Amino acid sequence: MNKQIWLSPPHMGGTEQKYINEAFDSNWIAPLGPNVTAFETAIETFLEQECYVAALSSGTAAIHLALLLAGVKQNDEVLCQTFTFAATVNPVTYLGAHPIFIDSEPQTWNMCPVLLEKAIKERIAIGKKPKAIIVVHLYGMPAKILEIVALAQKYKIPLIEDAAEALGSTVNNQQCGTFGDFGILSFNGNKIITTSGGGALICKDKASKDKAVFLATQARDQAPHYQHTQIGFNYRMSNVLAGIGRGQMEVLRARIKARRDNFNFYKKALQDTSLEFLEAPFQFTSNRWLTCFLVPSYQIREKIRLYLQQQNIESRPLWKPMHLQPVFKNCISYENGTSERLFNLGLCIPSGSSLTSSERNRVVEVLKKRLGFK
Ligand SMILES: *Cc1c(COP(=O)(O)O)cnc(C)c1O
Repeated sequence: MNKQIWLSPPHMGGTEQKYINEAFDSNWIAPLGPNVTAFETAIETFLEQECYVAALSSGTAAIHLALLLAGVKQNDEVLCQTFTFAATVNPVTYLGAHPIFIDSEPQTWNMCPVLLEKAIKERIAIGKKPKAIIVVHLYGMPAKILEIVALAQKYKIPLIEDAAEALGSTVNNQQCGTFGDFGILSFNGNKIITTSGGGALICKDKASKDKAVFLATQARDQAPHYQHTQIGFNYRMSNVLAGIGRGQMEVLRARIKARRDNFNFYKKALQDTSLEFLEAPFQFTSNRWLTCFLVPSYQIREKIRLYLQQQNIESRPLWKPMHLQPVFKNCISYENGTSERLFNLGLCIPSGSSLTSSERNRVVEVLKKRLGFK
């Protein structure tokens, strides 16, 4: 049997172990420490904009803190992209707030600015001005972020940018995660770089970062004893894991290149088939975290998926939109059918930065065979 080809496995660069060893040698195993600071600085440098980054235990924790910093409270409404992974939306419910789902547009597969404005206007008209917007750059493709920033500013609503899948993606050469009031990153095991588990919050000013770090370390007041005047969380990244992050930052550009190469390879090799790849709009660059395509029907999608599985090739349908999730069935949504169509017709194929050319060729051969090309 052929060796398993995974969708997006971790890919270490080589120096991660060195930074972990430093943490061990200095006994800096406790949270915080030099690796955390160096990892944060490396991210800030990469992002090229003035920003302040807090390394956290997960991307989900980063979204939770961003919502808190944006002032979201119980019973508030938060406008969320529906086409995403549940982690984008779950933290809204941790605060007792209500997600309202906004469908996508077909050019980027991300939040539709037209529907967003419709929702903002309607909610304001009934006296329920949304307290935050969460936009996502799904699969690494930037959302129409300039239009969404303009709407957030026009209506004075804090904007949170979920760039968990989009580290290194840009619009007009500006990095995703730096457009909103807050940006979030994830370093979970399947992301473009990983710390095995981890995330980061990107802030526009130092005061916000300080507040985030305060909340992430149990909200401890300045005092010789342990004193608390508000509820905190245990969300900081550990110094050991930040060591992995430091090593991964050194290879990030190579990882982006490898993922983009995968996409270009697949697109070219499959250009004569019925598979449809998402092109980046002018001035948009996707890190191509996962290569995805659309097929003509749900039945064909399932045939391809099951055939790949038989051949030991991992693939995955596109994210199931949140407004179709049983857990969110009572939430309000603004729909246009785009995300549902993407969910029915889309598939992600192996896209890791460690994918070899013989593995890529095997994926293409199997796809072509199933599509009836050979
Ligand atoms: C991975 C991911 C997250 C959550 O990050 P974790 O680090 O796994 O908590 C959030 N949003 C999106 C779109 C993601 O893909």
